[in-house]
Formats: sequence, structure tokens, C-alpha cells
Amino acid sequence: MSSGAQTVQSLLLVLNAGSSSIKFSVFDARAGQEPAECFHGQIEGIGGAAHFIAKAPGGQVVGEHRWTEAEHVDHQKALVLLSEWLTPHLQGRPLLACGHRVVHGGRRYAQPVLIDDAVLTELEALCPLAPLHQPHNLAPIRAIREHLPDLPQVACFDTAFHHGQDEVVQQFALPRAVTEAGVRRYGFHGLSYEHIASVLPKVHPRLASGRVIVAHLGNGASLCAMHGGRSVASTMGFSALDGLAMGTRCGTLDAGVVFHLQREMKLTPEQTEHMLYHDSGLLGMSGVSNDMRELRTRSSEPQVRLALDIYVHRIVREIGSLAAAMGGLDALVFTAGIGENDADTRAEVLDGCRWLGFMLDVRRNAARGPCITEGDPAQVPSAWVVPTDEEGMLARHVLKVLAARA
Ligand code: AMP
Repeated sequence: MSSGAQTVQSLLLVLNAGSSSIKFSVFDARAGQEPAECFHGQIEGIGGAAHFIAKAPGGQVVGEHRWTEAEHVDHQKALVLLSEWLTPHLQGRPLLACGHRVVHGGRRYAQPVLIDDAVLTELEALCPLAPLHQPHNLAPIRAIREHLPDLPQVACFDTAFHHGQDEVVQQFALPRAVTEAGVRRYGFHGLSYEHIASVLPKVHPRLASGRVIVAHLGNGASLCAMHGGRSVASTMGFSALDGLAMGTRCGTLDAGVVFHLQREMKLTPEQTEHMLYHDSGLLGMSGVSNDMRELRTRSSEPQVRLALDIYVHRIVREIGSLAAAMGGLDALVFTAGIGENDADTRAEVLDGCRWLGFMLDVRRNAARGPCITEGDPAQVPSAWVVPTDEEGMLARHVLKVLAARA
């Protein structure tokens, strides 16, 4: 397929399928231009009372539907419903390709890849490394291959951006045979970090070449240490459970706690896993919510206040650890739902990082920066708010993969 005339007027579909939701974006893929979003949306609550919503780039709702639990919307049905909604909205323009966010590319995939039978088999073999995410990422790929076998599909990996990390950073202090069986640090949120790395040179020259920690603070959360735009360390390791406390995940946990939960508190491995992924983090600590907006409005309640303090404390400690791994720190970048929108979290984190030389500019923090610290960023450590765009990154990857095979 040529990337020239056929690309004009064509559309790209980008999917991010999780355990209970399918997020989608449609991009206009005009030759020689950055992909431009036409609309985005999601079906959430899959397996329960599902809710579909589609929005134009400005946020205006262009489609919405709710199903009852009794209507049993599973992943398969959700994809059919999505395709039924999309067909008239594509207005006869052909789909050029579909890009997928795939959580795990293992040791092999350092770049996005065009999916064929062999690739799909390899990605399926990685399911044991990410059993809660990878099967959901792969299900729509299989469904689309069945219904639209000629549509090129591209897998883009959350682990890929971290591939270049040093062996010293990637290995656990475990027996060699265990490491060789794939039990090592991989790191995640790679599409978000790659997008941020791609825009850092436009934000400030010091960020492009310097030692930067990017704080992806969403419902899932991690930090990535970047030097010269490349990942050198991150807080997520073997699984997306590691590192920071998150919305419902515990983050780093003494492995002895897992044995205790199972031996003394009689939890099965499945119950333990469920607790650590879904009942912990901000939700578990506060007993109130995993939604930062709600927690901030109830921060005078002691359990909520403590949960917020622990959340920030963990971020501050991990920033110290990553700064040590890089031998210093030039800048801190906040991104994702909490990082971009919650000025209180940014202020509290920077307060804990004053020892590194950060001086918060309260007014600019309230205005979301982009720079939220005092002083010349070329001379002193600076902090920034930079919006992430994982879907845009996916779309750019898809176009690159298509161009390479043209
Ligand atoms: P994400 O996973 O990136 O969509 O981020 C979800 C998190 O961002 C949730 O904890 C939300 O509460 C939080 N969030 C979204 N908007 C805001 C806001 N305006 N203020 C504070 N937190 C927000």
C-alpha cells in the first residue's frame, strides 16, 4: 500500500482495550501531516451496566448510549456496537489501519509491529506476564482479523520505550534462571512517556537534553527517569502493580506481605491479586474513592487526608530514588489526569522536593504552567505541566509502520 494518494481521505482507528472498557479514537490520516483526531470515546462498564460515549475533539458529545446489566454487553458485543456506531460516522471514508495499545511486548518488541499470525502468537505467549491486561488487548485484534482480514493492524507496546534501560536497572536480585525466564523489570506507560519525550524539545531545550523525571499520575501512575529523552529507569517493573500508590493499586509492597496475606489471612492467590490491583491504593487507604476530585473535596476527613499524604509521600520518595539513579535532576514533568489537573498534588510533591532545589510558583501552578516553578529553567531545577496524548502517539506509530512497509 502506498502512503501517498491512498492515505488522503483515509481514517485510522486506535483502540485501547482494558478489562472493563474499550477506548477508541478516530484520526484523519492525511498524507504528510500529523494525524488529526476526528472523535474519541469509550465503552465502559463492560460486563455490567455498559455506557458508550463519543466526543468531538472539543469535548462535545456526538454519541451516547447506556445498556442495562441484563443486556450482557461483553467485549465481543461492545466491539460490534462500536463498529455499528462507527460505520455511518466514517461517512464512507475508508479505514486505513487500526492501531492497538498492547501492554506487553516482552524482551523482543522494542518498536511497534504490524500484526500477522506469527506476531499474534508471540503476543499471546506473553499473556502470563500481564494476565489482567494482555488478553483484553489482544481480543479486539483477533475479532478485527476475523471480520476485516485485510485491514492492517499495528501493535504499540507500553513496555517498548523502556527497552534501552541498562541491565543493572532491569534485573531483580533473583536467581539467574528466574531472570532468564522473563522475571525482570519492563516498565509501562511507555506510549505516554514517548509522547512527552517527543514534545520536550518544544517545551524547553534543557528538558530535551537534561535529566528529567516524568510523573504520569492518572488512575494508574508511574514515574520515568529520562536522560536526553530516553528512559533510564522507571517505578513500574515486572507488572503494572509496582512503584507509586495508585487509584486502586498498592504500588511497591514488601513481598513478605503477600505471603502473610495468603498464609495467615487465608487469601487465595486470586483474592490477593484482586485486593492489590482493585481494592488498594487511594481507594483502599481512604475507604472513600479512587477519584482524586472526590478525595480533594473530602480532604478534611482524617482517613482521606492520610491517604493523600501517603500518596504524595510515595511520589516524593520515588523522585529521590530516580534522581539518585540519574545522578541529579534538571526538571520534573507532571502529566495524565491528576498530574495535569490537580494543582494540590503538584504543590505537595514540589514541597517535598524542595531539597532538590524546586521553588513552586503558586500562580503559575494554578494556571497549569506550563512552567510552575520560579527561576530560569536553564539555571535551576524546574517543574512543568505537559499534557499526554497516548492515542495521538499510537496514531503516529501506525502511520510510521504503514509508511515503512510501503
Ligand atoms: P487518567 O487515568 O489519566 O484518566 O486520570 C484519572 C485521574 O485523574 C482520577 O483520579 C481523576 O480524579 C483525576 N482527575 C481528572 N480530572 C481532575 C481534576 N480536574 N482535578 C483533579 N483530579 C482530576
